[in-house]
Amino acid sequence: MSEPNEKKNEKPKISFRRTVSNNLFMLKLLHKASPGRIVIEMGLWSLEAIIGFFSWQYMLRHIVNGIEEGKGFYDLAVLLVAMTALNVVLVFIQQLWYQVFSGLFYQKTAKYFQELVYRKAGSVDLACYENPEFYDKYMKALNETATRADGVASSCSMIIFDIVQFAANGLLLFVIDPVFLLFLLIPLLSSVFIKKQKKADFDKYEETVAMNRRCDYTRRTYYLGEYAKEMRLSGIYRVMAKRFAMAIKDTKTVIRKYGFKCAFYGYIIEISREVFTFLGATVYAVYQTLVTGNILYGDCLVIINALTTLSWSITNSAESLFQFQEHALYIENFRFFLDYEPKIQDKETVLPMKKGALTLENVSFRYDGADADTLKHISITCGEKEKIALVGHNGAGKSTLVKLMLRLYDPTDGKITLGGEDIRDYSVKEYREAFSAVFQDFHVFSLSVSENILLRPKQEGDAALVETALIKSGAKARVAEMEKGTETILTREFDKNGTVLSGGETQKLAIAHAFTKENAFVILDEPTSALDPIAEYEMYKNMMEACENCGMIFISHRLSSAVMADRIYMLEGGEVIEVGTHEQLMAKNGKYADMFRKQAENYVATGVNVS
Ligand code: ADP
Repeated sequence: MSEPNEKKNEKPKISFRRTVSNNLFMLKLLHKASPGRIVIEMGLWSLEAIIGFFSWQYMLRHIVNGIEEGKGFYDLAVLLVAMTALNVVLVFIQQLWYQVFSGLFYQKTAKYFQELVYRKAGSVDLACYENPEFYDKYMKALNETATRADGVASSCSMIIFDIVQFAANGLLLFVIDPVFLLFLLIPLLSSVFIKKQKKADFDKYEETVAMNRRCDYTRRTYYLGEYAKEMRLSGIYRVMAKRFAMAIKDTKTVIRKYGFKCAFYGYIIEISREVFTFLGATVYAVYQTLVTGNILYGDCLVIINALTTLSWSITNSAESLFQFQEHALYIENFRFFLDYEPKIQDKETVLPMKKGALTLENVSFRYDGADADTLKHISITCGEKEKIALVGHNGAGKSTLVKLMLRLYDPTDGKITLGGEDIRDYSVKEYREAFSAVFQDFHVFSLSVSENILLRPKQEGDAALVETALIKSGAKARVAEMEKGTETILTREFDKNGTVLSGGETQKLAIAHAFTKENAFVILDEPTSALDPIAEYEMYKNMMEACENCGMIFISHRLSSAVMADRIYMLEGGEVIEVGTHEQLMAKNGKYADMFRKQAENYVATGVNVS
């Protein structure tokens, strides 16, 4: 049984034209990724087919027929020496290629494709990650692309190899007795079943993608540290185990659905090749040699060899052709992903960045697929040097508001301006560079402390910057305790001596990042939830000082920090219900004042004047 909301994969169909176009598209990218690779690889395979034919078929025929015709040793030895010399050279080139150059080319290709996918992934809208259809295609593009590119290259090489082999052996049969070519009709006809088998294989893969994703997710929850506590202390383990078992059960159903079909097609393919072609042609060859005496022993020998090679060439070529079709289906996903036009992107001409207030004018917003607006007619402003607090209960819409400010989403209605201009008229990159944002769900990277703080490659003079940021965020003492200081590697993913930080320490590092940049605005989306009230209060005080010349918008559940803001916006149900300074809102005695009083014990701890 599949998950109730899981979208069933529709059977993909692809035209012949699109199949060719997709494979050519991939070949062009491959050429860009590692120029010359395809030509070298195809050349090597052709050479192998030609030398293989001469040093095996041609030589065998020459020697056995020569012996039968009574030729001398030296007449036959010349060809043997020549073929050995050719093979010695070929094997040398092949070893160099397989052991060194193909690996180097593969790395080059993989790097090119990974960069292509990651660059694109960085530009797609955040909303895409919430769209399962897009996400599936993205995952396939990510998982398959480099190997698919390689697959197209090897399919091209294999087909060239088979064509050369086919031409050489076909010519040999034609010269000896053209009737033998008739035996090739059987593998030719059975290639229809290869197509069916490949198609069933692909359908099987498509149907198991969603299940594999479910299994992967469950596996991650088992081994990732971030889930470890819940997995041990709650019953969630059993829920995940059940989901995993369901996914396995669904996968088994799919295997049963397609497995028998594939086995049947495989049987027809093998039987037609092994029994009808080989046995039939061998009987005819032996008859022509022993009964009619039309062909020599050497000819009889090479005919059987040639038929084996030819029928394999037909099967392999058919497989390669169907592989191109299979590649085309994957490349289709990849092209869909690459062709995706983000909704949030630069207009043809963009305005130069201006300074000034950030203003939301009557902004409403609805998430894709949601039934109602998350934000309704919001009007908010944050002056160039103002400190604004967004407060409200969970689900009020504060984080969504921040995402709109950072242009991760565009408003459904209304507009956001910076320095009086609609932010959609600025370059997305330049606009986002005006902000330094810290979120609650900050992720620590398996890198050094300083790299986690800078979140960019290190430059000269960064040591002092990191030091100041650590002092201001309150993380200095903890980092000083570490043996390698700011060069300590965080997490134990790659370094068994790496340091694992607590939730609060992680947040301090995240906040330290905001102190390393001078941006027009700092946005803090509850990055202090794991800090104790005193540490939080200190951090906000430092942040206010550091941001003397910039705007600051912060979300905090603890209202002790909101006290410091120039203006507080209280949100409820996606609407601004109260606006003012702390004093004004307390005097108003509305929802803010109520919330504030309920948190009073915390303020006593911080020593903040709560009057
Ligand atoms: P807050 O930050 O005040 O807790 P949020 O902005 O996170 O509130 O969420 C506001 C509402 O929007 C919630 O009802 C939440 O479920 C919904 N929401 C948040 N993110 C998404 C999303 N990506 N897709 C659909 N709804 C969302």
